Amino acid sequence: MLKENLALVEKEIQEACKRAGRDRKEVMLIAVSKTKPVCELKEAYDLGVRVFGENKVQELADKYEKLPKDIHWHMIGHLQRNKVKYIIDKVDLIHSVDSIRLAETIESEAAKRNITVNILIEVNVAGEESKFGLSPKELPAFVEEVAKFPHIRVQGLMTIAPFVEDSEENRRIFESLRKLSVDIREKNVDNMTMRVLSMGMTNDYSVAVEEGATMVRVGTGIFGARDYASSVLTHLLSDK
Ligand SMILES: *Cc1c(COP(=O)(O)O)cnc(C)c1O
Repeated sequence: MLKENLALVEKEIQEACKRAGRDRKEVMLIAVSKTKPVCELKEAYDLGVRVFGENKVQELADKYEKLPKDIHWHMIGHLQRNKVKYIIDKVDLIHSVDSIRLAETIESEAAKRNITVNILIEVNVAGEESKFGLSPKELPAFVEEVAKFPHIRVQGLMTIAPFVEDSEENRRIFESLRKLSVDIREKNVDNMTMRVLSMGMTNDYSVAVEEGATMVRVGTGIFGARDYASSVLTHLLSDK
């Protein structure tokens, strides 16, 4: 099942790259493993997956301890400031920075450890009230502010598009995020790149790749549907 799912996602990414005249190497597939037990991540690992995305600090830290050290972990969920210290030295990239206060905490925790932390800025392109992220209007000033932090490196932008029946409806969202990143790149702010565009999930990653995504975050399409009730149980039992 996992093997077939991975093959299908890989094929769709390749086809989207081909349609857009892009090189497959420009797109990183992040296997979003939130709520899934360690044994399923291990199965994916054995099939060659090395990049996993998690949205909860405790879960990421637990899985980090239990799985091989050549895995690259991405924090894709909303991050509370008091939890930054638990994952800051475990993740390759934090996708979800959306406030100066959070950036300040990342800066000070990174400074303590003398490391540089790679982040993306989360943008709420669609303006959905239920979502985290900055509005496109707030973005330019925010980028300049965060780029001043010496232990943070802004690598690009992330967005979570609305859930829609037809993925075509999200094309303009992805196009907008790409345009925002181009506008920012043209300002040549120091200590910052706009190399990464993290956009596209199970329902719309093909469209996102066509619109320039350099990272797609695919959960259900790889691991199958999430069962939140049983994952709580698994989590409790795994602590014993
Ligand atoms: C859960 C999640 C995903 C993956 O969602 P699927 O629809 O299962 O692919 C991607 N990005 C973020 C931020 C998530 O929280």
